[in-house]
Amino acid sequence: MNRHWNGLYELEINRVAKELGLGRTDNVEGMIIEHCLALLRGWVAVHGTPETLTELAKEFAASLDLRITEVHTEADIDAVLEEVTPVQKAVIGELKTEFGGDTDAIIVRRLDPKPWDREYWAIINCQEWHAYRRYFTTWHEIVHLLLEGQQLDFAFRHTREKRSEPAEVLVDRVAAALAFYPDMFEPVVREEYTREGRLTFDAIDRVRERIAPDASREATTSACLRHIPSPVWFLQCGMGLRASETRRLNSPQLSFFPEETPEAKLRVLKGWMSPLAKDLAIRFHPNMRVPESSIVNLGFHDVWGEAKQGTEVLDAWETSSGGSIGSGEIYVEARRRGDAEVWAIASLNADG
Ligand SMILES: [Zn+2]
Repeated sequence: MNRHWNGLYELEINRVAKELGLGRTDNVEGMIIEHCLALLRGWVAVHGTPETLTELAKEFAASLDLRITEVHTEADIDAVLEEVTPVQKAVIGELKTEFGGDTDAIIVRRLDPKPWDREYWAIINCQEWHAYRRYFTTWHEIVHLLLEGQQLDFAFRHTREKRSEPAEVLVDRVAAALAFYPDMFEPVVREEYTREGRLTFDAIDRVRERIAPDASREATTSACLRHIPSPVWFLQCGMGLRASETRRLNSPQLSFFPEETPEAKLRVLKGWMSPLAKDLAIRFHPNMRVPESSIVNLGFHDVWGEAKQGTEVLDAWETSSGGSIGSGEIYVEARRRGDAEVWAIASLNADG
């Protein structure tokens, strides 16, 4: 996302803010998010708090005249196609091919809805790897309606997996705030955090079971971090090469002699942190090596794939230029995720 993109994003958020009749502020994106949260809060004030965030999504969508249908199989797609009008069918095209690719969802506006129909219909792709995105995709479609309201001038639109257009990025950022509606989510996170005295994978699983059963583990974990009142990092690690090695491997001009073929090492792939962690200068950089002595490394190589936890020193975590990213003790819990990844939670309150 470069300067040109930032300029376009600025234009987009100002356009949306104007459309919504919002005033001027330094933080336009924050104002739009607050506006949408207020709409949700207003709905809850009238209709009461549902049991889970999944129900909140469904009921709130219905109040916007939006019907949500999840498709898990090709038979589900056939059922959808039987319901759409011939004209819409022509626009939608090959839904099976589309959902077999990178489309997360489509939304259609029923231009001539029957009295019992909802005006908008979002069809959420839950096949294969799309399934774990379905909860977030649902909120994405809800946010489109909140931001575009009655001006919505489409009959049909898809949402693809990769979306970098400013309008789509804004929708995603608002959706991230609404999907874990803080008024419902935060009290549960605080309760489970307090019960364990720290953020653990078990605590996150319980949060998910209790309040966000359809959200992915990854999304739930990063949402939990926002409400943790201590410095905590969440890391996803897997085997990989140094950036320079990857470049060389992909370059047609440069090649390796067989004896110097680079060896993949366990590295940080992605990381998130709590607000208090952001205040500290400790950063687990993407692509940095996981120390061999680390609990994260033990958790990854354990044959039984059991969770590992304990205290280790931060000093062992070094950047490629050699310096360590911090000093002192951290408490680490590591869990294998499939064959290729290990996830870790690192806390600075190393008292256990
Ligand atoms: Zn979209």
